[in-house]
Amino acid sequence: MMTDRETRKRLIVTVANRVIASADELTDLDRAIGDGDHGTNMRRGFEAVLAAADELSAKSLGESLKGVGTTLVMKVGGASGPLYGTLFLSLGKSLADDVSREQVAEALAAAIEAVKARGKSDAGHKTMLDVFLPVLAALREGGEGLPARLKATARRAAENTIPMRAIRGRASFLGERSIGHMDPGARSSALIVDAVADVMEGCA
Ligand code: ADP
Ligand code: MG
Repeated sequence: MMTDRETRKRLIVTVANRVIASADELTDLDRAIGDGDHGTNMRRGFEAVLAAADELSAKSLGESLKGVGTTLVMKVGGASGPLYGTLFLSLGKSLADDVSREQVAEALAAAIEAVKARGKSDAGHKTMLDVFLPVLAALREGGEGLPARLKATARRAAENTIPMRAIRGRASFLGERSIGHMDPGARSSALIVDAVADVMEGCA
């Protein structure tokens, strides 16, 4: 996979617009088991990313991902800002402009480890990790129709957080009452994966 300036811009703009368009849905999810700010947080962060899209995409893929990470750390706030920031900064450290699927998978694996360390979180804690881990598994598998499978995996993984009891994040304060709702960060992660896969399919 080779990214040129145009592809990098399409990636940034598609992901940012997808998150911004879903801000109300993310806020509603966070209202159910958190403090109702996830949509506003993410919209603020990705509006800043969108505003910097030209500048960011002029850099290498690694540097533009680091730029996205830094912007998210500065603008998103909440628990999710530093965690998404960590994810993108880590991806930026390991991705060159021309990378194989295996290299993208290993970059995502390292980024997931960085998020786990930062959030003291793991699989099954009802967080964004419950989307990124299954997506990593699908990416490692590869094969025909990968973008469509990544999208289906991310959607299903976000839905699979509904019956989970939150162990990390604000939702964990609710204990049993966090059961029965989709994790807002899992949903935003699925939206991001969906947007990236759309660009991969060339249909964004
Ligand atoms: P806050 O909880 O501070 O209001 P947000 O509402 O923006 O922040 O983000 C909440 C989301 O962040 C959760 O739905 C969850 O997916 C993610 N999250 C929270 N804490 C952690 C953690 N320790 N590890 C991984 N993800 C987390
Ligand atoms: Mg919140």
